[in-house]
Parts: sequence; C-alpha cells; structure tokens
Amino acid sequence: MKHLKTVLITSVLALLSNSVMADAAHPKIGFSIDDLRLERWARDRDYFTAAAEQLGAKVYVQSADANEQRQISQIENLISRGVDVIVIVPFNATVLNNVVAEAKKAGVKVLSYDRLILNADIDAYISFDNEKVGEMQAQGVLNAQPKGNYFLLGGAPTDNNAKILRQGQMKVLQPSIDKGDIKIVGQQWVKEWNPTEALSIVENALTANNNKIDGIVASNDATAGGAIQALAAQKLAGKVPVSGQDADLAAIKRVIAGTQTMTVYKPLKLLATEAAKLSVQLVRDEKPAYNSQYDNGSKQVSSILLKPTALTKDNVNVLEEDGFYTKAQIAGQ
Ligand code: BGC
Repeated sequence: MKHLKTVLITSVLALLSNSVMADAAHPKIGFSIDDLRLERWARDRDYFTAAAEQLGAKVYVQSADANEQRQISQIENLISRGVDVIVIVPFNATVLNNVVAEAKKAGVKVLSYDRLILNADIDAYISFDNEKVGEMQAQGVLNAQPKGNYFLLGGAPTDNNAKILRQGQMKVLQPSIDKGDIKIVGQQWVKEWNPTEALSIVENALTANNNKIDGIVASNDATAGGAIQALAAQKLAGKVPVSGQDADLAAIKRVIAGTQTMTVYKPLKLLATEAAKLSVQLVRDEKPAYNSQYDNGSKQVSSILLKPTALTKDNVNVLEEDGFYTKAQIAGQ
C-alpha cells in the first residue's frame, strides 16, 4: 500500500514536472514593438524571431505604430493569449506600469528591450550602453569642430534613451562649455524621433542664429537626416558636423558622402540574440549573465548592456565585415 502510494506520488510529480518542462522547452514569447515602420526595428524583429525559434520558442509580434493606447491593448492581448514572457520596446516609457502589473499577476515575465520601461515591476532590461552612445556622438562632433555654436537635437521625450543619450553627450561637452570653446545655442527634443520635425527644428534654429551653427549633436540617424536636409537648404551640408546612431543605410551613405560626420553602430543581431536567450532564461528560471543594474524609478532592474561602436568614413567597413550590410547595399544608389 505504502509502495503504491509512493509510486502514485512519483508519477504525479513526474507528470507535473513534464508539463512544466514541455512549457519551458517551447516558451511562448510576445514581442511588443513601438514602431515597426522604422528600419532598425524591423531588423530587431527578424533577428529576435530567428534566435528565439532556434531556442525552441514561438514568437508573437505586435507593432504599436507609435500609439501608447494601442501598445497597452496589444500587451493585454498577448497576456490573454497565454504567453510566458513579453518583450517590450516601449513607445512611452512611463505609461506601462498597470499593464506590466497585469502581466506579472498572470505569471508572465517582462523584459524591457532597448528602451527602459520606467516605474514598473519589470524583470530585466537589455540594451546598448546608451550613455556611451551619447558620449560617442558628442565626441564625433567635437573632433570635427572643437569650437563654436552647438545645437543639441534630442530624441523623443517619451523615450528614456533620449535622456541617457543627453547625459552622455553633456559629459563630453561640459569641459568645452566651461572653457568657453563651445556654446549651446539651442536644444530641443524631437517628438517620436520624427525626421520632419527635426528638419523644421533645425530650420528654425538656423534662422534664429543667422546660420551661425557650427555643430549639431543629433541623437539618431533619422533626426540627423532631417537636420542635414535643413543644412543643405542653406548650402551648409558637409560644413556643419552632425552626429547620429543606428547605422541606417541612408546615414551610412551620408557618412561616405561627408554630409554626416559619424553614426554609432549597434549590432542589432547581437542585441536580439541575447534578448531571445534572456527571455527564455527568464521563463526557465535560469540565471542570466547580467552586467549592470538600472534604477527605473520603482526598482533596481537587472540589466545587460552591450557595447556600441562609433563609425566614421574611416571604419564603415566594419558593417560589411559584420554582415550588417553587403558591399552592394552600401555602394547602391
Ligand atoms: C533607439 C534608437 C532609435 C530610436 C528611434 C531609440 O530608443 O535606441 O536606436 O533610433 O529609439 O527609434
């Protein structure tokens, strides 16, 4: 009798652990992306899905197209579909605390991808070292133009990365400001990182300063594109250094042509692959290899920060070596 009981208990336990194992072997991942209409995020999606499938997971992708309400509904939808973990690129960093709480209540893990979700009980964060990216942007412009009037073109005010980039930029610029070598003649955040908005901000800045702007620290390639269009209209493209980030194809062509001074290459395949690994580890309750902590206003978030690379005309070949673009893509019209 006692023996029978033991056998029964053991088989029930085995059954239970099997069903847990089966789940963990094939985790369901929800990927909620701010905006798939942008070049970089479509790449993130493709690399992420491929890496997650390699690990036996199934990925459900949603794009909020820069709409915070839509993103919240899509996350709710992923929770009710029964995903095990939700990976989120937040459109607005500060509005997701309730939906993250819903996810946690349903036993769903939450990973903040590239941009930090603020004031919410997320499980982990993975990104590039955005402060370093900001430092590289400012340094790139400073190397090309160590003196004069600077304009700071920030990212979206809803994106925590925009603020971290600015911190990095100021770290590099402050000594030159203190010495009186450079003067910040204006700074503005660009709503939704929108190039058209960047264009009109820089047009206005040029007018307000009688075209006397000597350097533009732009926070990404999309906004750099807008800035360079405004400069071109005043025949200043290529004369005023402009920074960026993302190594967008259009930006690489501008770097080669000399109208954009630099960009920052962030190997998205690495980010996506590490994120896929991390999401599966969260589901399996394994220990991820975190390398930093980030205060998101409600907790210290365990984080993985990856290394960015500054790119100028001199080292764009890194992109080919890394398989980010082919030679033909870079050379193409
Ligand atoms: C990302 C950048 C991107 C920007 C606009 C930021 O959070 O880190 O790579 O250019 O969002 O999508």
